[in-house]
This record gives sequence, structure tokens and C-alpha cells, in this order.
Amino acid sequence: MITNNRLTANQYEQNFADIHPPFETADAALVEANRCLFCYDAPCTKLCPTSINIPKFIKQITTENIKGSAHTIFQSNIMGAGCSKVCPVEKLCEGACVYNNMDETPIHIAKLQRYSTEIAMKNNWQLFERKQSTGKKVAIVGAGPAGLSCAHVLSREGVDVTIYEKESKGGGLMTYGIAAYKVTPKFCEDEVNYILGVGGIEIKYNQELGKNISLEELQNNYDAVYLAIGVGLANKLNIAGEDLEGVEDAIEFIYNLRDKGYSSIKVGDKVAVIGMGMTAIDAATQAKRLGANEVTMVYRRTEAEKNCTQHELDIARLDGCATLWLAAPKEIIGENGKVKALICDVMKLGEPDAKGKPAPIATGETITLDVDMVIKATGQNPFEQLVSSYNINNNRGKINITNNVTNLAKVFAGGDCVNGGREVVDAVQAGKEGASAILKFMLNQ
Ligand code: SF4
Repeated sequence: MITNNRLTANQYEQNFADIHPPFETADAALVEANRCLFCYDAPCTKLCPTSINIPKFIKQITTENIKGSAHTIFQSNIMGAGCSKVCPVEKLCEGACVYNNMDETPIHIAKLQRYSTEIAMKNNWQLFERKQSTGKKVAIVGAGPAGLSCAHVLSREGVDVTIYEKESKGGGLMTYGIAAYKVTPKFCEDEVNYILGVGGIEIKYNQELGKNISLEELQNNYDAVYLAIGVGLANKLNIAGEDLEGVEDAIEFIYNLRDKGYSSIKVGDKVAVIGMGMTAIDAATQAKRLGANEVTMVYRRTEAEKNCTQHELDIARLDGCATLWLAAPKEIIGENGKVKALICDVMKLGEPDAKGKPAPIATGETITLDVDMVIKATGQNPFEQLVSSYNINNNRGKINITNNVTNLAKVFAGGDCVNGGREVVDAVQAGKEGASAILKFMLNQ
């Protein structure tokens, strides 16, 4: 049965409490910071997509220069606070820390980053000054990580920025696409407000490209346009039964929970989640934490080829989610219009495909899961129709750019709408690169 309100208010609070608690005292942060070896070649920094100077900000914590530490982080990554909570650090900075080579626990870089940035946000330390207005105006479409990061760099250089956002809140994927126990809606709101604190950035909410605003309008009214529209809903499974009641899109499922509150979100007794990326993990753990009895994650390859990190998979397993490897959805069976079972092809691995992963091949056998809810998390669809309607060159919806610029005059793009969907930290970096390209372009106008 699919129903909401399965738990008490207390249980919801407990299940969705922050999974990465901060340092309990300043001394604890100091002790951890002092473990850092301040490596001259800083492998941790090399693996950060935004190149945060990690030994520097940790060193600044050791001297209790928290303002300086936060400045070092925000200079490279204005969403450094959010990234400290959602980055898969085990495959980025912390995975590269030299302590791993000594079989010791790596420095808790994310926790230290959270420590400095949260103090800065709490005290509303505005660490960057906006230069005098240049009179230039830029429109950004999308107030997600790429859009906000681009806006912050441009604004600091004296550009007036207007962001057009289709939702009623900013933050994009951070606000709407990540499980609520990683970042709370309140934190996301605070982070957006903190970024806007630099001045010179206006967000116009509930403004959707192609509906309320047109690209031509933006091209005519601004010196440059930056498209940071992200990606849309989950890819279709293209199997029978996909339209039955109880089949949900993972992004919509996560979005609704964050937008409408825990108790109003319906979840089944037995849930199958299709996919093994980070969104699949978020959807599975969230379903379990909402009170589902059984959650099974279904993936067509083996554990060795999974897209999520081991750390993420461990979280799902600790939550009690099961995994079914080498299984691909074949058909969803319904009864009275509702999901009753999921039939999967049993797969085996073949030769590597175009992406270099062994291709899953159906063995002819099937397996049936008795479920009442199926959540699709097999990657997201770029907005192909929208970008094609503006004659923007694209590859199945992913916008083609050369040095951050599209084929259209003064239209730039970056983030998920270009790469098809990566981490928040990658989008922040894309926004910075987009801003430098726009600044260079405006200088030559
Ligand atoms: Fe510190 Fe580890 Fe980075 Fe070295 S690799 S600077 S020890 S965090």
C-alpha cells in the first residue's frame, strides 16, 4: 500500500537529521586541523573541482583565523558550505589525502570546511566587496549552483546580474534534488541569501525560459546571457507498466519531500529503486526513512560498476536497503491500475561498451519482485526540446559550447545543461568559468 504519514513527527525528525554532524567544540576542530601535514603538493586540492586551497584554509583554522579560512574557501567556491555537506569527498579531496597512503583516517576536510563556512554564514561575514558598477547587465537563467556561482563572480566585478528562476526558491539541485538529511531546506535558503549578500544580484522567481521569458528577450535586453538551466526529470524506462500508479521519478520524489514536508509524502510498503547513482541512493534511503518496509535497489551491472561511491552505498545498506545486481527492469505488472510487481531480466556482463563499462546482456531468465512502488533513477534528461526550439547546438539536449559560449550571439552556458549532470561542485566551477568568459567577452565589446 502506498501511503503517507507512516511515522510520528519525532521519528521523521530523527530519520532526517543531519548525517554529518559538525564538530561539537572549537577545540575538536582545532585538534583535527592540527593533524594536517600541509603537504606542499596538496593532492587534496588537486582533486577539488574548484581547487580550494585546502592546506591554507586548514592552516588558518589552526591559528583561529576563521574569517581568513572562510575567505580562502569561498574565494574558490562560493557554495563551499553546501559542498561540505553534499560533496562525495571520499572520491575527491578526502580520497586524495596522503593519510590514506599511511592507512590512517584522512583529514576530515569536509567537516573542517563546514566549520569555517558555517561560522561565516552564521555571522553573515560578507568577505567580498563588489566593485563599482560597470553599467553592464547579464541575465542568468537558473538559480542553481552554476547560476549562483557565475552571478557571484560577475557581481564582484561590478556587473548587474538578474537571475531568472523557474522555481519559487533558489539553489537548484542543492535545494530540490538532494536528500533532506544531507542539506535541510532552511540551510539551502540561508546559503542562497548569503550569496546574494554581496549585492548586485536580483533573482526573479517563477520565471521559466520558454514560458514566461524568451531567449530573444534576454538577448535584446542584456549584454550577455548565461544558461544554467540544469537537467530535467529521470530518463524513461520505456517498459510496459511505466504509467501505473506507484511509478515515480526519483527527482520528483526527492523534490516533493523537500518542498512539501516529510509527513505528506507517500511511500509504498515494498519499493524498488532503479539505478545505482547518487540520486538512486538518495531516493532509496529517503523511501526507507519515510517508513517503507522494504527497499531494493536494482542495477543492471555488478557492484564493481556502480555509479555511486562506496560510502553512499554503505549509507543505503545501513538504512536497510537491499541491492539486486545484474537485473534490468523488463515490465511493471499492475492490478487495478496500481503497481503490483516488477519483472527484471537477469543480466550477465559482456564486452565493454562505448563508455568502457562491461555491457549488460540479458540471459533470458527473469526475476520478479513483489513491490507496490517503483522509483526511476536512471539518469536525467536534458531539456532537448527547449534548447532545440532556440536553435542552440546540442547533443541530445546537452548544450554544445566552445570556451563557454554557445552558437548563439552573446549566449553562454554551463553546468548540468552542458555536461548532462554532475556534482554540485562541478557546477560551481562551471559557473566561475562561465563568468570569466562573459567578462572577457564584455571587455572586448
Ligand atoms: Fe592536509 Fe591531507 Fe591535504 Fe596533505 S593531503 S594537505 S594532510 S588534507
